[in-house]
Amino acid sequence: MKVYKFGGASVKNADGVRNLRQIIDEEQQLFIIVSAMGKTTNALERVFAAAQKHDPEAAQAEIDLIRENHATIIADLWHGPRKLERVEALFADLEAFVAANNYTAEEAEAWYDRIVAYGELISTTIISEYLNYAGLKNCWIDMRSAIRTEQRHKDAEVDIEASSPLLKAALQEAGGTIFVGQGFIGGAPDGTTTTLGREGSDYSAAVVANILDAESMSVWKDVDGVLNADPKIFPDAVQIAELNYLDTIELAYSGAQIIHPRTIKPLQNKNIPLYVRPFGDKRKPGTVIRGMSAKVDVPILILKKDQVLLTIRSRDFSFVLEEKFAKIFALLEKYRVKVNLIHNSAVNLSLCVDQSWHISEAVAALRKGGFDVMKAENMELLTIRGYTDDLWRKYARGPQVFIKQSTQATVRIVRKHQ
Ligand code: ASP
Ligand code: MG
Repeated sequence: MKVYKFGGASVKNADGVRNLRQIIDEEQQLFIIVSAMGKTTNALERVFAAAQKHDPEAAQAEIDLIRENHATIIADLWHGPRKLERVEALFADLEAFVAANNYTAEEAEAWYDRIVAYGELISTTIISEYLNYAGLKNCWIDMRSAIRTEQRHKDAEVDIEASSPLLKAALQEAGGTIFVGQGFIGGAPDGTTTTLGREGSDYSAAVVANILDAESMSVWKDVDGVLNADPKIFPDAVQIAELNYLDTIELAYSGAQIIHPRTIKPLQNKNIPLYVRPFGDKRKPGTVIRGMSAKVDVPILILKKDQVLLTIRSRDFSFVLEEKFAKIFALLEKYRVKVNLIHNSAVNLSLCVDQSWHISEAVAALRKGGFDVMKAENMELLTIRGYTDDLWRKYARGPQVFIKQSTQATVRIVRKHQ
């Protein structure tokens, strides 16, 4: 069994779906994980935002646009307008859910998951039906019941042990050898829909690869492979042929957009190689990620945006030490604030964290807990692995740099957004 994952960009239109069909052509035993088409998840986030504001008309207007986009793709694939009943039913469900308009703030994350999950449910339904229509028999798998997550919404971790019998039973029941399932979504123990965090389809594919002992996993992307930097920000970016699991985890955690950070562990546990390949040209080698690989001989630059720098000090100037660390981190965990860099002195603790939903509540709670907190927004975190003197001079100096932390191989810089 192989696992192929297609991201939103690779199935953003009918050509993308036809290309997917071509890519899987000769494969006999395949699990295909698909994301929502194009920018559908962003659009569904707008549906959620409208629902949150109790504005059903605005929500409906967004849904209409999503429906139109998908109708265009379907019409192109089937050479004329066509109603796919299962797709219609999904839209009807979504509309009914939003129209009921009983959103409550305590359920924000659960509502979010319930709404954004439709992107993947719709995309996989269209693709599965199209493949059948194009002569490639396949089975659609509902990952809400095959993938069991923890009881946490919007950024849930998968319980692989609990998912294993569920997924295997779903395949058994479906029969066949080619399967199509949604990335990004799962089901919590209480039966509600969960999502695995933005860009989480990679992680779904890795979980499936782990459970099915796949021989490999491939992620088909709109780039030739993994680059040493984002070419939109650093124009001299070059491709890396091979990476090991550990470097990849570090890169993903630092904010490299190659792969969702949780993807590697399930693969590493079963020693499954991961190929990052261009969907535009199947013959190109892409990048392979596995246990052993040649050393990377170029510096790697990763920029993580939307960061906030919190500087925390206890009000009585007492040392910020273990016991206070525990209190601070417990609060951050409670408000789901993700910490990307930690820097401490005797009385200060500086944290570079993601800009996230509950950050103001977290800051308020810290202040109530006896800390002075300074909050600097609009920051970014630049990580350079394998930095050179030139790169150091270029990036680690200047008034925009708030914090720099370096080890022999890596420097991490918190700076004002440029
Ligand atoms: N569709 C989801 C997102 O855009 C998941 C994914 O693409 O992996 O974040
Ligand atoms: Mg996506």
